Amino acid sequence: TTYDARCDTWSLGITAIELGDGDPPLADLHPMRALFKIPRSEDEHGVQCLTKDYEKRPTVSDLLQHKFITQIEGQDMMLQKQLMEFIDIHQGMGGTEKARKKNFILLQNTVSEQLEKCYSRDQIYIYVGDILIALNPFQSLCLYSTEHSKLYIGAKRTANPPHIFAMADVGYQSMITYNSDQCIVISGESGAGKTESAHLLVRQLTVLGKANNRTLQEKILQVNNLVEAFGNASTIINDNSSRFGKYLEMKFTSSGAVVGAQISEYLLEKSRVIHQPLGEKNFHIFYYIYAGLAEKKKLAHYKLPENKPPRYLQNDHLRTVQDMMNNSFYKSQYELIEQCFKVIGFTMEQLGSIYSILAAIMNVGNIEFSSVATEHQLDKSHISNHAALENSASLLCIQADELKEALTSHCVVTRGETIIRPNTVEKATDVRDAMAKTLYGRLFSWIVNRINSLLKHGTSGNGDELSIGILDIFGFENFKKNSFEQLCINIANEQIQYYFNQHVFTWEQNEYLNEDVNARVIEYEDNRPLLDMFLQKPMGLLSLLDEESRFPKATDQTLIEKFEGNLKSQYFWRPKRMELSFGIHHYAGKDDVGCDTDETYFINRSSIMQGYSLMDLLSKMMVGQPHFVRCIKPNNDRQARKYDREKVLLQLRYTGILETARIRRLGYSHRILFANFIKRYHVLCYKWNEEPPVSPDTCATILEKAGLDNWALGKTKVFLKYYHVEQLNLMRKEA
Ligand code: ATP
Ligand code: MG
Repeated sequence: TTYDARCDTWSLGITAIELGDGDPPLADLHPMRALFKIPRSEDEHGVQCLTKDYEKRPTVSDLLQHKFITQIEGQDMMLQKQLMEFIDIHQGMGGTEKARKKNFILLQNTVSEQLEKCYSRDQIYIYVGDILIALNPFQSLCLYSTEHSKLYIGAKRTANPPHIFAMADVGYQSMITYNSDQCIVISGESGAGKTESAHLLVRQLTVLGKANNRTLQEKILQVNNLVEAFGNASTIINDNSSRFGKYLEMKFTSSGAVVGAQISEYLLEKSRVIHQPLGEKNFHIFYYIYAGLAEKKKLAHYKLPENKPPRYLQNDHLRTVQDMMNNSFYKSQYELIEQCFKVIGFTMEQLGSIYSILAAIMNVGNIEFSSVATEHQLDKSHISNHAALENSASLLCIQADELKEALTSHCVVTRGETIIRPNTVEKATDVRDAMAKTLYGRLFSWIVNRINSLLKHGTSGNGDELSIGILDIFGFENFKKNSFEQLCINIANEQIQYYFNQHVFTWEQNEYLNEDVNARVIEYEDNRPLLDMFLQKPMGLLSLLDEESRFPKATDQTLIEKFEGNLKSQYFWRPKRMELSFGIHHYAGKDDVGCDTDETYFINRSSIMQGYSLMDLLSKMMVGQPHFVRCIKPNNDRQARKYDREKVLLQLRYTGILETARIRRLGYSHRILFANFIKRYHVLCYKWNEEPPVSPDTCATILEKAGLDNWALGKTKVFLKYYHVEQLNLMRKEA
């Protein structure tokens, strides 16, 4: 294994050349010159760069002869051949579209191959530039012990193999060094390991934040378990799939002591409460409380049936209540969740209310309707099982009659007059389900708010605290049949991708432009036009949906026609021969997603607008400095050590890892104002009490004295690569 410290590419072998950082870009070299890095043992950085002029393009044997490529891992001729092609592209025809494409595919394959090698050795973390790739091991690895945790505290990035704990450390150190908020964005498809990564980050951050108050530390560690019991469910892809987006912010004092946490939730998949796809389950908590309350002989108290599972829990996994009650995992989870509630600070009374509402939801689901013919109206609905109605009303502390009214009739206001009309059975059923979903959604938000007020306690409240946010959001979804929820989830993903692009590509490049720094422009696929199609007012897809759902006579058919008539976008399409559906072309080669709008499903969905709270989140995140963790799922079978190349390649493509790696190589990830830079690092060159002038010259003097190269000075800022910062900090510590 060769380790290229400056490139930060552990075991990536050849990819170090492309993905590394800090050397003149290959394309800037003389066309007949080759540049390689080889490890140099006496040098702390571990590499040296060799360049040599050739009269013609060097061959593999030229390079071998000059030992330029002897260090490439494995001496793999195939890799060497690829390397030559790669040089060709960079040096000869770097400018053509075809060559770029070829280069890209080549690079992609090379990265994938190297990932495969790493994975076969259970090395699941790899840096590509300053992005952490995390491959799901699908097995427990001994990587997260207290010793590991210690190893990564304040350690130089190159001192240890890549790790999620190192990511926590980078975020934490940046927060303290720059006195600024940070955010860690974790992305990847369902089952890729986002939630596990988020847990590990929180764990390491509580260690770093030296929560001197053990209770606070325990509380923070319980938050994820608690909200996940309510927001996660077993799906065909993942037994613990997050069905909501979660942004957990850990709050610190300016000296880095953790003082609290805040959590925001997005786009909870409420439809799961009333219906689960074949082979999937409802939210975990329903099963836990069933088993737990049964164990405590409290089912009757919460009016839960002991003979037949409530309708909302009747899927193919659970045929009898006994199955649920005897499930020892559920029972232990019930105990665990009750413990979480208590540790965080919920009262017994609040717990009782939470159980009552959950039980009420299950009882509401059992309410049935039948139609009764009346003199004037043929299709009036009638409640056919009063026990379920009475139970629900009593658990919710409302009158059964009022609940009945709410379910079986609705108000219409015509010419200033309010008329009460009966609901058909179909309508009453919809209202019942809508009520169950709303109850669950509100309960979830209430719990989250309550957690927030209980964990706010430690913060000073005067706004001078710092934070590290961790975003764990569901990945892009494309099922055989996609509905409104997939649309929302995918729009959310497009927004995250946009944020990522903005940060990594646009802003960085604007900054070079504004500061007159010479760095190369990277092309990337911008998803702004697609987001505009969704979000623009008044003609974006969501506005049109909102508008159409206000028309009393709107149907899915009229909605789709409205879309087709107004959305003049290459990203929207209508499949032939399918009346009630439309398709979306998503970002960067993701498969097209077709949405079915089966009757009443899309329309009446103005609740959609609550999904765009996501924009608030993004604007909150934009303030902080981002760090990215890209989770990759190596196979669809949840098998350890099984690496599906095609699958990984697709994910590399979707997430833009390679474009990011490239800009990271060419760009400067740290941009620091002259004054801040001088204040922090002047000790490397001046006496500690000296106050050198704030000027580019002073900065240059410090950087030269530190022996660094490849940095740049802008009009107001010093532009540094991440390894510069690491080295400067190390020297400062030693000074
Ligand atoms: P979703 O989008 O469905 O919520 P996710 O990306 O959050 O998916 P996780 O729930 O984090 O996926 O991971 C799925 C499963 O993969 C875990 O339950 C665990 O079994 C396994 N897994 C993930 N990361 C690790 C790890 N670092 N070590 C061991 N197992 C892991
Ligand atoms: Mg998850």
